[in-house]
Amino acid sequence: MRIEINKYVRVLLIVLLIAAAVWYVMEQPPELPQEAAQPAETQALPEYAGAAYTELDGNVPGFARDDWTTSSYEYYSELDSLGRCGYAIACIGTDLMPTESRGSISHVRPSGWQSVQYDIVDGKSLYNRCHLIGFQLTGENANEKNLITGTRYMNVQGMLPFENMVCDYVKETENHVLYRVTPVFDGDNLVAEGVQMEGWSVEDEGEGVCFNVFCYNIQPGIEIDYATGDSRLADGAYAGEEMSYVLNTGSGKFHDPDCPSIEDISEDNRQEYTGTREMLTAQGYEPCGRCKP
Ligand SMILES: [Zn+2]
Repeated sequence: MRIEINKYVRVLLIVLLIAAAVWYVMEQPPELPQEAAQPAETQALPEYAGAAYTELDGNVPGFARDDWTTSSYEYYSELDSLGRCGYAIACIGTDLMPTESRGSISHVRPSGWQSVQYDIVDGKSLYNRCHLIGFQLTGENANEKNLITGTRYMNVQGMLPFENMVCDYVKETENHVLYRVTPVFDGDNLVAEGVQMEGWSVEDEGEGVCFNVFCYNIQPGIEIDYATGDSRLADGAYAGEEMSYVLNTGSGKFHDPDCPSIEDISEDNRQEYTGTREMLTAQGYEPCGRCKP
């Protein structure tokens, strides 16, 4: 009798062990590497091909397991001998988020900074003082270790969607997001080729937020000398005929003035525009699929 119970218990234990092992394996996030991945600087980055950002390493960030923490922190690299920023890393929680509104950052001069304006650029200024870790995430404002010379295009089309995603996620869940932004400079260039952005939500192990992208520091229609920050209008930037269009500043679409969809655009988002098609697309606008302007 005693032997039979032992057998039974042993079988039960083995079944339980197997079940636990299966559960453990399935619960493990399969994606994140044990060792920190190669930083973007040492990778061959894909050429700009019309999209503001491109995925790196299958969109999986290179944080090592040792980086995992549910305690908020932030770190900004010292400037190098050329005055350039290095990577900034943070574990973003609601406690790091700003409680005061943004102050002026106009006295900070990141490496390669030039104040230049072009009509072709949304808001005219080619360069923005571009936060590595967005103000909305850690409340770092005029920190020179967190500001680089970035194009309007990179700031708004490249980086902002990821900053908003992280911000919304942290606010909604009160979870933490490991977040690293690494500017990538070619040689001694003063202006970065772009930034690598990595994000990973900690408590749910990447289920809410998981990305690894490279945002291009380019501006359509403008040629940039990355060594110095000098720039000029690209040949043909203003090519094409000037036409009248109606913009939807909310959706980023532009329409023929006769398009029936214009009625549906709210007054706040509707804007008349006269210029070339190229200038509009350079600002990130896309043609409406209905009127095909
Ligand atoms: Zn339309």
